[in-house]
Amino acid sequence: EGTLTVKELAEELEIEANDLMTKLINLGIMAMINQELTMEQMENIAAEYGYQIKEEENTDDEDNIYGLVNDIEDKEEDLELRPPVITVMGHVDHGKTTLLDAIRETEVTAGEAGGITQHIGAYQVDVDGQKITFLDTPGHEAFTSMRARGAQATDIAILVVAADDGIMPQTIEAINHAKSAGVPIIVAVNKIDRPNAQPDRVKQELTEHGLVPEEWGGNTICVNVSALKKENLDELLEMIVLTAEMEELKANPNRAANGVIIEAELDRGRGPVATVLVNNGTLKVGDAIVAGVASGRVRAMVNDRGERLEEAGPATPVEVLGLSDVPNAGDLLEAVEDDQSARGVAQKRKDKKRADELTRNTTVNLDDLFSQI
Ligand code: GDP
Ligand code: MG
Repeated sequence: EGTLTVKELAEELEIEANDLMTKLINLGIMAMINQELTMEQMENIAAEYGYQIKEEENTDDEDNIYGLVNDIEDKEEDLELRPPVITVMGHVDHGKTTLLDAIRETEVTAGEAGGITQHIGAYQVDVDGQKITFLDTPGHEAFTSMRARGAQATDIAILVVAADDGIMPQTIEAINHAKSAGVPIIVAVNKIDRPNAQPDRVKQELTEHGLVPEEWGGNTICVNVSALKKENLDELLEMIVLTAEMEELKANPNRAANGVIIEAELDRGRGPVATVLVNNGTLKVGDAIVAGVASGRVRAMVNDRGERLEEAGPATPVEVLGLSDVPNAGDLLEAVEDDQSARGVAQKRKDKKRADELTRNTTVNLDDLFSQI
């Protein structure tokens, strides 16, 4: 229920039970030491002591209605190497978009005869046979929304730091996100074409935040680049490939797919369109799928080059057509046995969501019960 006895509440507030009982009497509440208080009473008392009761949504795995329904663990021998998934992070205006576009243009468009790229929120490049997947979404959002759903959509973070500006608040935020996700960081020291660029100053500042450059005896890879002039991007890509090799990223391509929604929208002609990053397994045209409260069947898949795909394996970003509704970014998508189970899972989530909203049935996590105002 989430309510406490007088004794428990006193412990929680770190006060004497007797003092609390006196306080209660002052509030017109006569309560025994082992009496359970109502939520309203608890709120009144907490307010007296300058606390606010915080109700937490239940985050128990069992009650996580958005979790995967068929997340069977793979056997080691079924795992195969897969491409790394890269997120670009960094302070505003330090060149994230320019870098993503530069890599995309040089590696994708130029490499193909009249290649028409389309923006689907993620793209893949091929560096000497090694594929690399880049998420085009703002790194911070990708991290927070996806991790909230339990999806780890990124393997390596590229931290873009402008050499003429140095480490800024969002740079530090990005470092912290990547660190808490346990994701390796490669630093792209950008804008080295600027006359006032000071790449060594950036490296000095990085050191102060626990990222010691390799050339200074640490283990953080730093690459000086100019996204604008497309300088040294090859070296950056090479470092990504190297880091990915060390990470030994694996997945099982021979199983039902699961992945994460990168972005989704309602297209006038095509209905709900979702960009999905396949995390594991292989997604196929015809698969029954469920993503959040949306369900359906994969009607068609299109990659970032506008090519139709029949199948999409691990770490492939792909646009998926055929969902009934528009899922949320960060929702997990998975292939299930048939239409009926897809609809069933989606319906269960809708019902649960509705019930939660109606009863506001939240449980109180004792550790987080009180947050000081
Ligand atoms: P974002 O906010 O991190 O996505 O930054 P943008 O990619 O939008 O870049 C911000 C500004 O910096 C734009 O005017 C870019 O043209 C410029 N810029 C990005 N990379 C470079 C670079 O390597 N050299 C120079 N001189 N300017 C750059
Ligand atoms: Mg940008």
